Amino acid sequence: MDRNSSRDRQQPKVLITRPIQQSVIDQISRHCDVQVHRVDEPMPPELLASSMRDVDGVMPAGVRISKEIIDAAPRLRVVSNIAVGYDNIDVEACNRKHILVTNTAGVLTEATADLAFALLLAVGRRVAEGDRYVRNGHWKQWEWNCLWGTEMHGKTLGLYGFGRIGQATARRARGFSMRILYHARHRASASVEKEFAAEFVDRETLLRQSDFLSLHVPLTPETRHAIGAREFALMKPSAFIINAARGPIVDEEALVQALRVDRLAGAGLDVFENEPQVHPALMGMENVTLSPHVGSATPETRLRMALLASENLLAALRGERPPNLVNPEAWHDPQTT
Ligand code: NAP
Repeated sequence: MDRNSSRDRQQPKVLITRPIQQSVIDQISRHCDVQVHRVDEPMPPELLASSMRDVDGVMPAGVRISKEIIDAAPRLRVVSNIAVGYDNIDVEACNRKHILVTNTAGVLTEATADLAFALLLAVGRRVAEGDRYVRNGHWKQWEWNCLWGTEMHGKTLGLYGFGRIGQATARRARGFSMRILYHARHRASASVEKEFAAEFVDRETLLRQSDFLSLHVPLTPETRHAIGAREFALMKPSAFIINAARGPIVDEEALVQALRVDRLAGAGLDVFENEPQVHPALMGMENVTLSPHVGSATPETRLRMALLASENLLAALRGERPPNLVNPEAWHDPQTT
């Protein structure tokens, strides 16, 4: 653990759980006494708990901020998550202690939609499979029957979740002349539907009609295992599933079973139920393309995420309402009290 030493003992103390860009650490250090976990691995819970003992703010990435961790941090005022999804944080426990929780919504939309679309193209046109075919020396000559894939043109893309990333994925699909269906809790405005040429359908229609089903909902108690055996049974056997949202939205065992019996044509997965473990059966399937949770992994996006997380953190520590507050229940305006 590295500590940017404090010049002023009154400065708030902050923990950053990953080696983020030094320029952002330096910026935060102008206002705070900063500790950085310099190892690019999740902090072990015991180390995290002991490091949280006297901090006012934490910037977690890829680490669970559980009730136990929150209880171990009596001075904590803000959890500034360096991600848009905040299923790693016990928000209820934060609410009870008026701890503000923020995310980095918006700045990783395009990079994540790129990755979702890359997986879609990869499974449809068998890109990773072709790469293995060539590298393994199987390619001896041009073959008429070699690795036939699925065209995007005219196919139906079903978006489960039609927020920032779902819509950005729709924008890409329009360029490929795909038909776009979506399902979310709320229907988008007529102007948004027109912009993306997207049609709102119920969940069952989405599952039945999609050639590619791409998941863009957050992980919540309602969406955990939202796609399981029942859903796979409704899908076309020629359909592909793309998950660049959160692993536990899909029942991975049911996915494996659907792929084993050809109830599904393939899967493009950036996220997994028990990361970094991947179901061993998926590892052996040629029609499954895997990536190691890298939806937002570009230098531009990772910098924007670190900057926005620091903006949220510093605003909260100044007693201001942070721009990306996700638990307004915990906010008390100092002007009105
Ligand atoms: P967003 O703008 O909040 O969009 C979420 C969408 O999901 C909205 O359309 C929302 O609909 C819908 N939704 C929420 N709960 C639902 C439910 N129970 N049933 C049906 N629809 C539901 O979020 P975003 O910025 O697009 O991000 C989506 C998720 O992507 C994040 O939460 C995160 O987990 C994941 N993500 C992954 C990576 C990666 O590295 N792979 C990177 C970034 C984000 P309503 O508006 O109707 O509620």
